[in-house]
Amino acid sequence: MISLIDLKRQYLSIKDEINKAVIETLESGNYILGETVEKFEKDICNYLGVNYAIGVANGTDALVISLKALGIGPQDEVITTPWTFFATAEAIVQVGAKPVFVDVDKDTYNIDVNQIESKITKNTKAILPVHIFGQPADMDPINDLAKKYNLFVIEDACQAFGSEYKNRKIGTLGDIACFSFFPTKNLGGFGDGGIIVTNKQEIAEKVRLLRQHGMKKKYYNEIIGFNSRLDAIQAAMLDVKLKYIDNWNKARRRIANAYKQNISLDKIILPYEKNGLKHIYHLFVLQYENRELIMKYLNENNISTGVYYPVPLHLTKALEYLGYKKGDFPIAEMLSTKTFAIPMFPELNENEINYIISKINMFGGK
Ligand SMILES: *Cc1c(COP(=O)(O)O)cnc(C)c1O
Repeated sequence: MISLIDLKRQYLSIKDEINKAVIETLESGNYILGETVEKFEKDICNYLGVNYAIGVANGTDALVISLKALGIGPQDEVITTPWTFFATAEAIVQVGAKPVFVDVDKDTYNIDVNQIESKITKNTKAILPVHIFGQPADMDPINDLAKKYNLFVIEDACQAFGSEYKNRKIGTLGDIACFSFFPTKNLGGFGDGGIIVTNKQEIAEKVRLLRQHGMKKKYYNEIIGFNSRLDAIQAAMLDVKLKYIDNWNKARRRIANAYKQNISLDKIILPYEKNGLKHIYHLFVLQYENRELIMKYLNENNISTGVYYPVPLHLTKALEYLGYKKGDFPIAEMLSTKTFAIPMFPELNENEINYIISKINMFGGK
């Protein structure tokens, strides 16, 4: 069976370095935050070209803490998309604010920038674009609107480490950005982890306070915060992986190109890559009218598939109280019935790639 992602293969490819980093951390006697995490934070700053990076416990916390750090709370509205992982909207609700959805673009699956302005009210505090599946959202018009209406821009970059928008790295384009190191993300740890990045000192200081019980100095708590720290062992392993991320992203793009150039099944819709933007294909998501049939066929041929996402967020039970209904976001709803992912990870080999392509092209169902 070719899995959607094979985490063990990646580990085995750098096993000695990872094991060494783990043992060094174990022997250091320091297991949460500390020097190892600081070094990783610095390396992230250098990689992205950003002033501050603050490691946290996971990507969801990164979003919650970022919203809090910007002072967003009850009565406030945050504009985002319903076509994302649940955590994006969950974080907005967790700080007491209201998610306001805007439908996505039918080609990029990212927030439709032409529909944002009509959703801005006197309560809107921020726009929270998601770089979905690794495809950068259209940040220039988002930043223009934010400037015009004095809003914050929070990037949910959890699926897009190393993606680029007009030669600028994702995560450096708004006021603050959130990354997740959940194992299946394109920069994934061996457990939970996340990081918040920003160029603004004031915001960085607030984030640092919030991640650890609102204190700079132990037992001198200044505000109510969280316990959301990055483990040293995760930071040590992620620091090893950071050296490989450009090569891995290149491999993802090479596989995506092979898929795009060779999958020729009638009526299948391939992912779109906007000119001038660098998509890193965290997931390779296709559209097909009869998704269930082709997924069943691929599974019978030992090719794993997955659905991202079967329920757009405005139709989830948890967010029912917001009052949205079916038909509110036609593109997101259409995508939720037609999209499916095929295997995508840097270590996929030529034989597997060719096999997947040929099986898709041989699909005879309708
Ligand atoms: C994974 C993900 C998150 C949450 O990250 P965790 O580390 O799992 O908490 C948030 N937003 C998006 C778009 C994600 O894909």
